[in-house]
Amino acid sequence: MQDILTGLNPAQKQAVEAVEGPVLILAGPGSGKTRVITHRIAYLIKVVGINPHRIMAVTFTNKAAREMETRLNLLAPSAAGRLTMGTFHAICARILRQDGLPLGVPADFVIYDDDDQQSLIKQAMAELELDPKRYPPASIRNAISQAKSQLVLPAYYFEKGRSYFEEVVGRVYELYEKRLKQNKALDFDDLLLKVVQLFKQHPEVLARYQERYLHVMVDEFQDTNLVQYELVKMLSAKYKNICVVGDPDQSIYSWRSADLRNVFNFETDNPGAKVILLEQNYRSTKNILEAASCVIAPNSGRKPISLWTENESGQPIAVVETFNEQEEAQFVVSEIEKLTRYEKFSPGDIAILYRTNAQSRALEEAFIRYGMPYRLVSGTRFYQRREVKDIVAYLRLLQNPQDSVSLQRVINIPTRGIGAKTLSDLGQFAREQDISLYESLVNLSDENTPKPPIPSRGLKPLTDFGLLLKSLVADARNLPLLNLLDRLLEGINYREFLFASEDGEERWDNILELRTVAQQYQEIVPPEGLSVFLESVALVSDLDSLEEGVSAVTLITLHQAKGLEYPVVFMVGMEEGVLPHSRSFDDPAQMQEERRLCYVGVTRARKRLYLVRAFRRSLMGQSNVNEPSRYLKDIPQSITKGREKQPLSEQHTAASAVSPVIKQHLQSAGMSIKSASPPAPKLLELEAGDRVLHPQFGEGIVTSINRVKNDAEVMISFHSVGMKRLMLSFARLTKL
Ligand code: ATP
Ligand code: MG
Repeated sequence: MQDILTGLNPAQKQAVEAVEGPVLILAGPGSGKTRVITHRIAYLIKVVGINPHRIMAVTFTNKAAREMETRLNLLAPSAAGRLTMGTFHAICARILRQDGLPLGVPADFVIYDDDDQQSLIKQAMAELELDPKRYPPASIRNAISQAKSQLVLPAYYFEKGRSYFEEVVGRVYELYEKRLKQNKALDFDDLLLKVVQLFKQHPEVLARYQERYLHVMVDEFQDTNLVQYELVKMLSAKYKNICVVGDPDQSIYSWRSADLRNVFNFETDNPGAKVILLEQNYRSTKNILEAASCVIAPNSGRKPISLWTENESGQPIAVVETFNEQEEAQFVVSEIEKLTRYEKFSPGDIAILYRTNAQSRALEEAFIRYGMPYRLVSGTRFYQRREVKDIVAYLRLLQNPQDSVSLQRVINIPTRGIGAKTLSDLGQFAREQDISLYESLVNLSDENTPKPPIPSRGLKPLTDFGLLLKSLVADARNLPLLNLLDRLLEGINYREFLFASEDGEERWDNILELRTVAQQYQEIVPPEGLSVFLESVALVSDLDSLEEGVSAVTLITLHQAKGLEYPVVFMVGMEEGVLPHSRSFDDPAQMQEERRLCYVGVTRARKRLYLVRAFRRSLMGQSNVNEPSRYLKDIPQSITKGREKQPLSEQHTAASAVSPVIKQHLQSAGMSIKSASPPAPKLLELEAGDRVLHPQFGEGIVTSINRVKNDAEVMISFHSVGMKRLMLSFARLTKL
């Protein structure tokens, strides 16, 4: 019993002991909100004697639920597995499996992911003969999802629809619902919506749950949406023992309909609610906390929550400027090397936080190169991401058209209406004819070859695809890698295809990031560029697997890092356009959210915080010279240290202010400060027998030179990677 209350300060103790009636705990990061919830559960079970079966605790992520369970196990081992703990979605799925029947939800329903959802919407639109060009399925899908998270049903659009678009949404929504039902499927939004409907339409079911849940607790309450709050209200209506904890300054999910009004309305919705403020931070050093409070202060309309700590001042915040994203990654990795070798930190103590998933690529490559273990939280590793794998499969196919595994992977990407039956018929035909699948496709447009027994409706998309592949395969022999990639993306309309899915923008960002990689192979004469590229991708992907249990550095987005803490935190990409993200520039509300996101990042750190940026960043296929993030300027110099001696705002505004580090880089790259893209360099004077150095391939000897127009093809025998043929104008060669 003792340990449940002893590890708490008076305010936390008060929050744990306030077990009757509604409670709102508002407090800043690291003040023990999550700890209070965990101890409160233990207290309810072990001191008040509540049956764990009658307690519900909602967490924001599955990972948070697992962590809470682990901690709870130490405090109240008997409770394990008996209380209801998890995300809203997980809890709702469980309720529907048990009790969905009265609402017509069968116990064996399937849950549709984004992709399934998207294709069903397209199908519904086709049935309604709606033009997907005029009404992009992705925006219809978003509208439906928004509607569901605000408890809006199709009927609303027919009664109150304000525009033709809304009417269209209503019609698709209605049919989409019908089809979901026929497929015995629910989408993600349905999980919540259906439970609310179930409770509204079947009060007897609700009554059972209300009776059961004596206590309901919600962590990260500032990021709940209206449906989620509605649900919490319903469940706790009988006993009114509802305890929510949150921090409005950490609200970062408005793009998923999270609604801060839930926090602001809590007291009015729950008369007599106790409000408890926690002010002591246990997580971070004084310096980190001060940096955090300076970052969040400029946001308007906030009710500042005071936050102090007894922790030591700690080290100053390291503000580090690097040349580009590769040097940024290299800096991070070598710093980690020092932290783990000379200081007491282990890789598991360290996290790297970034704004967008695409930023992980340069970092991942550095980790792999240095053989340092890393763990990518939830997001999929770059080269394992579906869209990246799809395009790599295409490229593999273009290099080797006989690769039928790759062909089968991409034959319906983007959707071409080639059914499984058609595909297997074609496969059988190819086997009978003793030709490859690729050949059988290409032959379709050749009148002099035998045709497979496939109805002409099915034959058309196959023929078209065969023609497309044939021309791309020819391109692969002649075009430098980046041009080939662009031709491919254009040929298959990939951008349009991706944008039709919910996370299209992010997935397209990954493709643009793949372009950045392809750029590095431009200098290699086709078709060798393609094979060198594919070889290196294969190697990177191969090293991907990581044993569980190994202490590894965490790579994680700012959004996913919410609620977590690490002794050492690197925030990378501290640049205008990255954090804050350029997408938010025009929208003041979004800009406030970007600032909160930065605040969440800074407050994940316990002992050390590094704020790292690149002077020049190639991200998603674009190379930009970025200004330092405005948030850096908000942190007083008295608590920072770094390579930068001048005030940040004066950096890089004039060529004379460029730091020596960058100047040196620019010179070695043959660039001047004024231009963001490299000017056409003068060709290096070379002849056979010269020794040269290449930044990627190392040292080698020129074996021959073949002059073409204003350029030259150079054959070089590299000591470590063998013979390569490079375009001199692109090759970053130094004569030794
Ligand atoms: P966030 O807003 O980031 O989710 P939080 O308010 O939920 O933060 P916790 O994660 O619960 O904060 O706590 C932060 C850290 O401080 C944890 O390591 C926790 O164990 C520790 N902590 C909290 N309260 C105390 C206490 N009274 N004594 C010692 N350590 C504490
Ligand atoms: Mg927390």
